[in-house]
Amino acid sequence: MHETAEEAKAETEQMLKVYADFCENDLAIPVIKGRKTDKEKFAGAEATYTIEAMMHDGKALQSGTSHYFGDGFAKAFNVTFQGRDNSICHPFQTSWGMSTRIIGGIIMTHGDDNGLVLPPAVAPIQVIILPIAMHKPGVLEKANELKERLKKNFRVKVDDSDQSPGWKFAQYEMKGVPLRLEIGPKDIEKGQCVLVRRSDREKVFVSLDNLEAAIEEQLEEVRKGIYEKALARRESMTYPAANLDELKEIADNKPGFIKAMWCGDEACEEKLKEVAGVSSRCMPFEQEHLGDTCICCGKPAKSMVYWGKAY
Ligand SMILES: [Zn+2]
Repeated sequence: MHETAEEAKAETEQMLKVYADFCENDLAIPVIKGRKTDKEKFAGAEATYTIEAMMHDGKALQSGTSHYFGDGFAKAFNVTFQGRDNSICHPFQTSWGMSTRIIGGIIMTHGDDNGLVLPPAVAPIQVIILPIAMHKPGVLEKANELKERLKKNFRVKVDDSDQSPGWKFAQYEMKGVPLRLEIGPKDIEKGQCVLVRRSDREKVFVSLDNLEAAIEEQLEEVRKGIYEKALARRESMTYPAANLDELKEIADNKPGFIKAMWCGDEACEEKLKEVAGVSSRCMPFEQEHLGDTCICCGKPAKSMVYWGKAY
């Protein structure tokens, strides 16, 4: 709650930025920041801001929202405070949140046919240590020694079960562990180990001397790699539409987002839902000029809108 509208508005914008940064930097999920249309905004809010992400299948996931309530709710519920001039005032309110649905968002953005792909920042295990030829002298000891050393900086685990290495590879790929560390008798002789990235199965041999730095670097490669892959997918599945027929044709045949100009009239929004099955996802802060008129009614356009099918 805030004394002034300006403070409340600033917080609304700030919180959207916090969510967007968390999605992009920690979860490696690219998002589009923007404002909801009146039809899609939170009932009773003056403004709703959103971050929209595209899932694997081209559907949108509203991934976090931030609402500016003005003083409407405070008046309706008679919430008051004594102002600096001793008068009774209604506070200006905000409401913002990101919910557990973002866990589904991680799975549906990064997962592949082999299972989960977890962003390093939130992976419960960041590095799985797999001893190779485990029963040879010294191997298991070395694996445990590395675990003790690495657990100061990373979330690590050793799998010393009797399953075969191939089984273990598949198991931790399915669980989405970002890095696999393999260590066997030959590696120990050479003072090295093997790191394999879950995201692209890229394999690197690294010296045990600089292991922490190498892991740090590889985890960052995973984060960057999955972010870029998701961004490239979103871009390749986003289409501009110049008229209603084009929008319908895209909506019927190509999963993804559609960018199109809109007049601001709710009737046009309703019509697009009716004829093409898409809802407005947001009016992005980064506007593009795709034409002067609304693709639905032909009146002057007020903004470019992202349209799509959503979860
Ligand atoms: Zn229109």
